[in-house]
Amino acid sequence: MARRKICDGDVFIVFDLEWNQPIPGKEYNIDVSSLTGEIIEIGAVKLIYTGGRLIPHGEFSRDIRPKVYRKLHFHVKKVTHKSNADLLNGVPFEEAYTDFAEFCGEDAVLAGWGNSDTDMLKMNLAFLGMDDKLPWKFIDVQPLFSLFAGQDGKQRSVEFAVDYYDIPKEEVFHSATADAKYTARIMQSIFERSAQDKVEDAASDQIIDCNIKREYSHTGAPCRTQAQALSLVSGFNSKCPFCGRKFNVKTPLFRIRKSSYGLFECPNDGDFFGRTRVKKNGEGLYYAAAVLRLANQNDIFLIESKKAEFDRFGTSGRPVEKSEQIINKKCQKDDNSY
Ligand SMILES: [Zn+2]
Repeated sequence: MARRKICDGDVFIVFDLEWNQPIPGKEYNIDVSSLTGEIIEIGAVKLIYTGGRLIPHGEFSRDIRPKVYRKLHFHVKKVTHKSNADLLNGVPFEEAYTDFAEFCGEDAVLAGWGNSDTDMLKMNLAFLGMDDKLPWKFIDVQPLFSLFAGQDGKQRSVEFAVDYYDIPKEEVFHSATADAKYTARIMQSIFERSAQDKVEDAASDQIIDCNIKREYSHTGAPCRTQAQALSLVSGFNSKCPFCGRKFNVKTPLFRIRKSSYGLFECPNDGDFFGRTRVKKNGEGLYYAAAVLRLANQNDIFLIESKKAEFDRFGTSGRPVEKSEQIINKKCQKDDNSY
């Protein structure tokens, strides 16, 4: 995958989406897993890279009238402050997306906070039978912020970053249009406050093709022992899922409790983060679930901190307090449901 180097005249479209969700227990005449969220707002700000700075060049905002999930999910209602009546004022998604594509132009790089928005955009396009291949590249601003603001790979919120850079809070958070504006201000601040070559390199490195699959998973067959279960999926971490080349091992797999971690490098495609978890099925047998994904800065920090934990405490990991254990259990549950 060729890395794209940032240069003068490059167009960045900082965008954000709001989507509605199916209401649990309600019957829909579609398979809800094919549309886990229906987009109800697109907000965007155009920034053009000029002499080391990102200069604003127009804004975009559309409210969209949903076709399937027409009643707001209580959580969406609470977070976005929208009402069911507001939804009726929107335009059809097809029209909003056509306008958005025109606003972006052909060679733009989309920028967002986290990478869930491009996936949601593609899901909505596919659901409506439209071409779901996005004609743009993508950069995730969140790990870039984490890197330049010394956040050690922590996933911070837009509001945290707004506070960090003292950006005035002129609008209410959690509308797509307001969050796109805030994210644009954050991205501008990262570029303004950092050495030009350093931020150019880091940002260029993180521009990806949002149409390629970034994450691969593999689940092994059930076995009697944890070691057998792990050995069944060990080959999964040996070569690049994109081009098939053999990986160079940067951090060999090491195990903390039920998870193994490793960092691998493909000469073509860059660093990959690997994590394998051993689980137990209903019959008491062990099986391993492995995930391999293009590593972002957060993954690299995660590997570093887990490796430090392993070096100090070994496979049993850092001893946890009882109250902490309960929290961990809950987090793991949330994590697994993803
Ligand atoms: Zn490769």
